[in-house]
Amino acid sequence: MLGPPGAGKGTQARMLSERLGIPHISTGDMLREALRNQSELGNKARSFVESGLLVPDELVDAMVAKRLGQADCERGFILDGYPRTIPQAQYLQSLISGDGTEVLAIGINVEDQVLIQRLSSRWTCPKCGKIYNSMLDPDKAFGSCDECHARLVQRKDDTVEVIAERLQIYHRTTRPLIQHFQSQSIYSEVDGNRPVGEIFDSLVGLIQNRTGVRIDD
Ligand code: AMP
Repeated sequence: MLGPPGAGKGTQARMLSERLGIPHISTGDMLREALRNQSELGNKARSFVESGLLVPDELVDAMVAKRLGQADCERGFILDGYPRTIPQAQYLQSLISGDGTEVLAIGINVEDQVLIQRLSSRWTCPKCGKIYNSMLDPDKAFGSCDECHARLVQRKDDTVEVIAERLQIYHRTTRPLIQHFQSQSIYSEVDGNRPVGEIFDSLVGLIQNRTGVRIDD
């Protein structure tokens, strides 16, 4: 899943993972967990993640390679937030070449102005990753997650300054991936300026069309 920060990749990937029965692999979630655990990877990645910069390709590539080697990825997987650079896309393609995995790159399109508003009112469950928005859902008390009851948090990189940096990096480094995947005829896009359920229905329809696999409710 491609798209700028705040486009709704995490929310949609989570829903698709449930519907399709394949894992949702978010490199951002994995890195934040590594930071919390203060693992070697976490310590190397911390300054990049907290300032909104991209973590060096070799660290993220190795983390993804390890994750995709796990048994639950055998029937497919949803990547959210990876690849984010052309070298990462090339690495991913080398990793899966020859194992029968086909890539479908799907972008969620939202303008920067909307993203800034969404990100600065975003609350996340640190345990299950569910995402809430205090602007879209003003009546909810942003205390704990509906599903796993962990205390909701606002991400350190969802401040106005860091959001601006992340958007710039998206436009400079990640957006060129659209052309990269378009040139291989594996890119499709959905309009992310719609209610969550409508975007999800478009994604399901698109995946059915592109793969020929029927997805039941
Ligand atoms: P996200 O949750 O996808 O917005 O990612 C949060 C942060 O994790 C990013 O701002 C980067 O610092 C880091 N990160 C996540 N995925 C990648 C990636 N594929 N390449 C480099 N850095 C990443």
